[in-house]
Amino acid sequence: MSPITGKALVAGVVGAPVRHSLSPVLHNAWIEAARLDAVYAPFAPPPERFAAFVDGLRGGAIAGLNVTLPFKEQALALADEASSPAAKAAAANVLVFRADGTVFADNTDGAGLLAAFAAQAPGFDPAAGPVVILGAGGAARGAAAAFADAGAPEVRIVNRTLSRAQAITEALGSRVGALGLDRAATAFDGAGAIVNATSAGLADGQVLDFPLEAAPKACVVMDMVYKPLRTPFLARAEALGLATVDGLEMLIRQAVPSFEAFFGQAPPAEVDVRALALAAIGAQA
Ligand code: NDP
Repeated sequence: MSPITGKALVAGVVGAPVRHSLSPVLHNAWIEAARLDAVYAPFAPPPERFAAFVDGLRGGAIAGLNVTLPFKEQALALADEASSPAAKAAAANVLVFRADGTVFADNTDGAGLLAAFAAQAPGFDPAAGPVVILGAGGAARGAAAAFADAGAPEVRIVNRTLSRAQAITEALGSRVGALGLDRAATAFDGAGAIVNATSAGLADGQVLDFPLEAAPKACVVMDMVYKPLRTPFLARAEALGLATVDGLEMLIRQAVPSFEAFFGQAPPAEVDVRALALAAIGAQA
């Protein structure tokens, strides 16, 4: 490991809780391989003091932060300037602290999602057909914006609470439509991709039973959840012969532009961060 000196660049991830975040594993592996004088640390401020935490970093103490639950929306609100993807997603997963004390918000989740499709479903063309997003939280909104920007002719948001899906439609425009859970089979008809962006089952062991058999054989199915790596949703898609993309690939791909924003260079390609992340979550490749 390269020595960390007094000149070291510092970046990190902020969340509550943050202890399960894989970001320190990814970024510190890249830092080590690139022999950078840098460190990437986890931060878990009390949620009610998040604004004070961010303000305290305006002094230039650190280069930037990745932001995870539950702070992504608040991070955007606290920033002085935001990228177009962050504004469209209404959430930031990256904060960059500039030398003049201002804070720039970005969102690399959408780019990470598209890069994960490119890596694991190389034949997939976002412009080729309708894309279905399951869920209407922050991750769903960012995914809908990314697919709309990538040329999807139609984005169908399917959510338990219809009004939340409709709010995304209103924000993102006419190519984005909203449906309730009972219309999932209709939404899957003719779909080029289906993305699970719900948090169902994360805490309560509940598994959502979507009618994936209504999807065309060429449809690509993606799950943002990556613990376990092969979620019941992805296993079901595979059993139906559909191509799949996993949430870990999205997590890794969103980290690439984050690393560039913090450390001013691309992460070294030779490190197998996927293997490191799989080991950290105790999963099989
Ligand atoms: P939110 O809490 O903002 O949204 C959760 C969504 O899930 C809502 O639409 C909610 O519906 C729906 N939902 C929750 N429980 C159920 C249920 N039992 N039945 C039906 N719908 C349900 O979460 P986020 O948008 O921030 O994150 C969503 C998921 O994406 C999480 O699992 C997160 O870990 C993952 N994620 C993964 C990333 C990656 O890099 N792989 C990046 C970002 C997120 P309702 O509106 O009706 O409450």
